[in-house]
Amino acid sequence: MNYIDPHIHMVSRTTDDYKRMALAGCVLVSEPAFWAGFDRSGVEGFRDYFRQLTEFEKGRAGQYGIAHQTWLCINAKEAENVELSREVIAMIPEFLDRPGVLGIGEIGLNKNTRNEATVFQEHLELAARTDELILVHTPHLADKYQGTRMILDMIRAHPRIKPERVCIDHVEEHTIRLALDAGHWVGMTLYPITKCSPQRASDMIEMYGTERILANSAGDWGHSDPLAVPELIFEMRSRGHAEADIRKVVYENPLAFFSGCRRFRFTPRDLVVSAG
Ligand SMILES: [Zn+2]
Repeated sequence: MNYIDPHIHMVSRTTDDYKRMALAGCVLVSEPAFWAGFDRSGVEGFRDYFRQLTEFEKGRAGQYGIAHQTWLCINAKEAENVELSREVIAMIPEFLDRPGVLGIGEIGLNKNTRNEATVFQEHLELAARTDELILVHTPHLADKYQGTRMILDMIRAHPRIKPERVCIDHVEEHTIRLALDAGHWVGMTLYPITKCSPQRASDMIEMYGTERILANSAGDWGHSDPLAVPELIFEMRSRGHAEADIRKVVYENPLAFFSGCRRFRFTPRDLVVSAG
């Protein structure tokens, strides 16, 4: 089955991963801007990173027949430096008209601090002003529930952001309903240890259905699995889910969400090969 991984940090993965993903049926990835594992020293570091995301990585994915899309922002882990964050937010519009840019992301909260909230709201303002889609990272573990509520409140308070143009990512059992009820798309992240397993994701699909639900690997430079979405396909099949329902979660839903971006173009050239 062809699938899309709507959240994966391919700059930190090898070409072997691209090949294995292509063999497993991946036809499109979307790569949010994230933390490099260290704090960058200035705005030029982000300009170079955005060039990597919008130029180099697209070509690398293309060699394996995988379309590459991306999201731009300064992530919450670097948001404590509000001055640098403002410089990056002011620079992002240079890149917004490039093909393959889906919007602003992954913005959000990490430790739910005041500075993180300030930078999150300034990203929201940029997205509203430029009419961009938004991809939101929710905090880990103990901070997730409170952080998700703070995020949903800040989005709700913004007069010009439509909920269907926002995806709340890394939802778990205790946050998925909050985000769906607010009218957003949600992303379930399939991680080997933290976040959500293919089994837990399948349970949530059984509880909440397939509307506005995406599944991703969030693969990065840490312990993660770039083939996590095929693992979910395998789990759902083994439970007897209809192929049409599986396909909706791993293929049609991400396409429907991305289609809210006026620049989004995707030609499913290899659908014929693997149809059925
Ligand atoms: Zn991420």
